[in-house]
Amino acid sequence: MAIEDRILKGSVRRALDLIGDRWTLLILLSAFCGVQRFDEWKALHGISPSILSSRLKRLVKRGILEQQPVEPGSRRQCYTLTEMGADLFNWALAVWSWERTWVYRDSDHPVRLIHKTCGHSTSADFVCGHCNGRVGYFNITIERGPGYDALAVDMSSGSRRTKIPAINSRNNIGHIGRFVDIIGDRWSFLIISAAYFGVTRFDAFQDQLHIATNILSDRLRRLAEDGMLASNRYHDKPARYEYILTEKNIAFYQVPLMLALWGDKWLPNDAGATFIRYHDNCGEKLTVKPLCNHCGEELCQDNIDFDSSKEPILKSLGSS
Ligand SMILES: [Zn+2]
Ligand SMILES: [Zn+2]
Repeated sequence: MAIEDRILKGSVRRALDLIGDRWTLLILLSAFCGVQRFDEWKALHGISPSILSSRLKRLVKRGILEQQPVEPGSRRQCYTLTEMGADLFNWALAVWSWERTWVYRDSDHPVRLIHKTCGHSTSADFVCGHCNGRVGYFNITIERGPGYDALAVDMSSGSRRTKIPAINSRNNIGHIGRFVDIIGDRWSFLIISAAYFGVTRFDAFQDQLHIATNILSDRLRRLAEDGMLASNRYHDKPARYEYILTEKNIAFYQVPLMLALWGDKWLPNDAGATFIRYHDNCGEKLTVKPLCNHCGEELCQDNIDFDSSKEPILKSLGSS
């Protein structure tokens, strides 16, 4: 199966069509931290009211958030996660856990998750629902599902949206800026996906993704700066480079994986799943559960607390 098809037809791609805009990602992550009101999001991320309003509307329309009065009878509205939205929990956990290890070395992550069952600060270890073995880049096999052929690939809506805001705007979105740059930018996401499928060389990325040379150079440079790809000169005259997955990027794999599993469940196409994933250790169809890295018990929304009030989160996310 062509790499291009594997990427473009995957449910990560469809999930990103739904939620993959950078503001939407930020809105969703902060919803998991308990943010529910328009003014809170506005203050937190410095989003313009019109953009915020359009993103919230879209999330409601797509069934990820629901709008309701703050109190019965009140005219003030708040937004809460629906069942579909709340099911992005594993994905949010994957983001926080990866950032805690790879962006903030452990304790200084602004969003501290407390596992109430054991009382310790936690991050998630994702294991297989069948055999409890670790799940990651090295032990998942992907096969075509019944919906594969039914899905038309259309890059046109995504390919035009190639502009990433200037680098200094990262400060405005605080600690999750790095993550959002990677997954909220379609080209970066597609390049990383191709790298997961074994693409390393400039020409090969271009062949697989039909990406303009200047955009590809720019994204590869950014990904190398971020430590997501390591560049390696394999030919001198003319200079040619290959781009290798780093450990940081291999650990990041859990973020798109959780999004893909969510997409498989909530965004099926009529003919069925586009891809079926298997856990190599046990050979079973992949299901995933998050375990507390301290006590080994399963994490769920009900047994997780955010450290102290929203105040430190607001500060860390919103400071510019
Ligand atoms: Zn397994
Ligand atoms: Zn625990």
